Amino acid sequence: MDRIKAEQRVTELNEQLQQYGHAYYVLDKPAVPDAVYDQLLNELIGLEELFPDLVFPDSPTQRVGGEPLANFQKVTHEQPMLSLSNAFNEEDLRDFDKRARSGAGEDISYVCELKIDGLAVSLMYEEGRFVRGATRGDGRIGEDITANLRTIQSIPLRLKEPVSLEVRGEVFMPKGSFHALNEAKAERGEELFANPRNAAAGSLRQLDPKIAASRNLDVFIYAIGGDAETYGLTNHDETLSYLGELGFKINPERAVCQDVDSVIAYIEGWTGKRMDLPYEIDGIVIKVNAYLQQQDLGFTARSPKWATAYKFPAEEVITRLRGIDLNVGRTGVVTPTAILDPVAVAGTTVQRASLHNEDLIREKDIRIGDHVIIRKAGDIIPEVVSALVEMRSGDEEPFQMPENCPACEAELVRIEGEVALRCVNPQCPAQIVEGLIHFVSRNAMNIEGLGEKVIEQLYREGLVADVSDLYKLEKEQLIGLERMGEKSITKLLMNIDASRSNSMERLLFGLGIRFVGEKGARILSEHFGSMEALQHAEVEELVTIFEIGDKVADSVVTYFDNEEVHGLMERLAAADVNLTYTGTKVRVEAGANAFAGKKVVLTGKLEGLTRGEAGERIEALGGKVTGSVSKNTDLLIAGEDAGSKLAKATELGVEVWNEERLLEELNK
Ligand code: NAD
Repeated sequence: MDRIKAEQRVTELNEQLQQYGHAYYVLDKPAVPDAVYDQLLNELIGLEELFPDLVFPDSPTQRVGGEPLANFQKVTHEQPMLSLSNAFNEEDLRDFDKRARSGAGEDISYVCELKIDGLAVSLMYEEGRFVRGATRGDGRIGEDITANLRTIQSIPLRLKEPVSLEVRGEVFMPKGSFHALNEAKAERGEELFANPRNAAAGSLRQLDPKIAASRNLDVFIYAIGGDAETYGLTNHDETLSYLGELGFKINPERAVCQDVDSVIAYIEGWTGKRMDLPYEIDGIVIKVNAYLQQQDLGFTARSPKWATAYKFPAEEVITRLRGIDLNVGRTGVVTPTAILDPVAVAGTTVQRASLHNEDLIREKDIRIGDHVIIRKAGDIIPEVVSALVEMRSGDEEPFQMPENCPACEAELVRIEGEVALRCVNPQCPAQIVEGLIHFVSRNAMNIEGLGEKVIEQLYREGLVADVSDLYKLEKEQLIGLERMGEKSITKLLMNIDASRSNSMERLLFGLGIRFVGEKGARILSEHFGSMEALQHAEVEELVTIFEIGDKVADSVVTYFDNEEVHGLMERLAAADVNLTYTGTKVRVEAGANAFAGKKVVLTGKLEGLTRGEAGERIEALGGKVTGSVSKNTDLLIAGEDAGSKLAKATELGVEVWNEERLLEELNK
């Protein structure tokens, strides 16, 4: 980047971070996720390193926190309350370790602590009595919040020894209290807090201490404010133990690590476990243990050089939206997908993200060219959370959904009650290809060797128009297709052939009937035993089957009530595809146990297991679970609050069991 461009970007970043910092520190209402703030701050740090003359005195890299609020008395900290430098990956940690060792010597040990996501406070004690508490503020001057801090039960008002000292710690709101607070706020129609940190900060900066008292705040103390050596302490680990002895609440999870590898192992351990903590942590703080070594390393304007904060991988990051692709799914739903500048999020590189539907794009006012926030929580498909309107240049373009299907040009329709636009043309090539991909997928017919690209070719070349055509494919037709060598053709034909004998539930699921998932397909196949029988089923019969509801029943009947489908079944039969259930359901002789051969209905609420689990176990024992009570019902299991089914069973003289009896028989 040349200097002119860099200067422009540095100015932009300064302004933006200033704005976000104000919203976060002063208003307790973040405008963007923390990770986005960190990403921009990091970009600024990088540019300032390249062009040191662009480090302005008011740059967010030179300052700590935000301005203290005017409503509170101001407190000047005797020792500034600083921030921490950040590490985002192993490389950053190893760099930190290298710098620490070169500044303080090879013989170094670290204390690792959880980085509690709350806000820093300073607590003053005189002769063992709590006399004043303050926020960090801008690091130099904070707000006097003594009255509010006194309401926190875990802050001792009197220490076990009459010492005078300043301690620092993190006030936080436990996850449970945060959710309860937001729920109560939602009920009253008030604005919610974005996260527990902001909720804690907002609670401590209330003028009325009763409010803070009601918020269930807590604290962990992690340092002495002044010179800890005055108290005869030589390292950080000792200090933490001493603070605990004085009666402060210390986080129990710290570890002393003798080298950077153990630090990394500690971090890895907590990356997996942190969700289980009752409070939020956003990283791990690593501090050089020995005070003499800390002194060798010193400080920058903003943070100590002897500590760093490792931040867990961001689940939300910022990138540019370059375009919007439209994808026609198996059921004809047209979904817009964001095409992004590649960006690392939660450990993987993301280039595409879901935009769900047109309404959402409009509601969020997402435009092509926008800077957008991408989220990827856990294993979920990445999605676009929002656009950063303040970063627009004016060249961004609003997105318009087309009126016609991008694959077949048929007019798109919006089905009542649905947000999605749908192509309803049954001949739509995109839907057919997606349908074929589903048909061969692992949980359906499980035909290996038929990837997306091969299926597209087969369809394009006119070799396969529907699923039955797969069974007519011959070697000669496949030679010459891309990605298909002689060996893979032979294998593929073998796999197709093997799939002919699949049990019916795979085929039924593979047909992609709306609302018929894997489980539904299995239940229907077990019940009817053949496609032939299922084809003639009526809604009334279908809904009596345990776990088959109206939606599935209607969908199945509509599907089979179609000439095209009859033709397809005939073609499949002619191609020797098995249309019957040959599954592994074990036949249990009637009378072998209390359920075998019996028609059972479940109703009411069960305590020890769900109705679904109960049904599965009864069926495994050879019982047949149905949805409604009739004169053919042998047994009704009535849980709590059983209503009309129980009444009907009693009227018909059907045997009725309670849950206790059910469990007794199941466990025999
Ligand atoms: P920081 O949170 O990265 O690190 C310093 C702070 O860590 C300390 O002040 C202390 O409060 C805390 N901490 C927790 N546990 C600790 C422990 N065991 N030992 C020592 N310190 C511990 O830095 P910061 O300057 O306080 O704030 C930056 C944070 O605020 C970042 O997470 C940033 O994303 C966020 N922020 C977000 C926005 C936004 O718009 N979303 C704006 C500004 C800042």
